[in-house]
Amino acid sequence: MFDWLKTKRRERALASNAIPDDEWAAALHALPFLDHYAPDALARLRQLTTLFLVEKSIVSGATSGEHALEVTPHMRVLIAVQACLLILGRGASVTDAMRDYDGWENVVVYPGDFPRTHDFEDEAGVVHRLDEPIAGESWHGGPVLLSWPAVEAGYDESGMALVIHEFAHKIDMLDGEVNGVPPMPSRAAHDAFSATIKAAYKDFCARVDAGEETAIDPYAAEFIDEFFAVTCEVFFAEPDLLQHEYADCFAQLQRYFCIDPIAGAITKSQ
Ligand SMILES: [Zn+2]
Repeated sequence: MFDWLKTKRRERALASNAIPDDEWAAALHALPFLDHYAPDALARLRQLTTLFLVEKSIVSGATSGEHALEVTPHMRVLIAVQACLLILGRGASVTDAMRDYDGWENVVVYPGDFPRTHDFEDEAGVVHRLDEPIAGESWHGGPVLLSWPAVEAGYDESGMALVIHEFAHKIDMLDGEVNGVPPMPSRAAHDAFSATIKAAYKDFCARVDAGEETAIDPYAAEFIDEFFAVTCEVFFAEPDLLQHEYADCFAQLQRYFCIDPIAGAITKSQ
């Protein structure tokens, strides 16, 4: 019953909250990795983006003071469209696809890197507080936090896209584990994905450790969940690079997302 109501609500929201043409065009213009997508894929992306904007609050993390940030409608669409790219090929309908983003509400946008505060205990049992500036963070069952300058820095076709990175973490967390493997339809699919990403991660770490100047952001060597998030960024924002560097990973991501980002097409209807 709850699902039925939710589907109905989403259908109504789609009908009454369409994104204005000029705002949609401006968002696509700002994201060059979307300009070759097929019209049917872009139409579905627009519907998902509409639902995302209705269901999520995209708010400023700094509403007053010297560094206050106003979140404009353009910024909201830019964030939403990139978040929805990850679910573009998922679900039999757009309301089904949105289920991947159920269970949380807020995206908080900051005027710059923001401190991640965490406490840790040293060997002597003394608790220290560490303030470490970061550009983005995803909470399990909670908000996504983004630094706006870091979001904008990715628009130059460099294969970096912070919004995609943080929402890839959300997808990774869907099965309750942060391990670089999103929820899979079967044990065999899970094992195949896991084996592929582990092998690629091991190879990438060895290259970074050897001092190689990798075309993929070396931050991906940090942990396997970061490798997953970074490869998702490259998959969508510079797909030729990922296919060239890690073709097996590319194929696994293509299977999971049901998107061919090089052709700009949805690869199957579910
Ligand atoms: Zn990350």
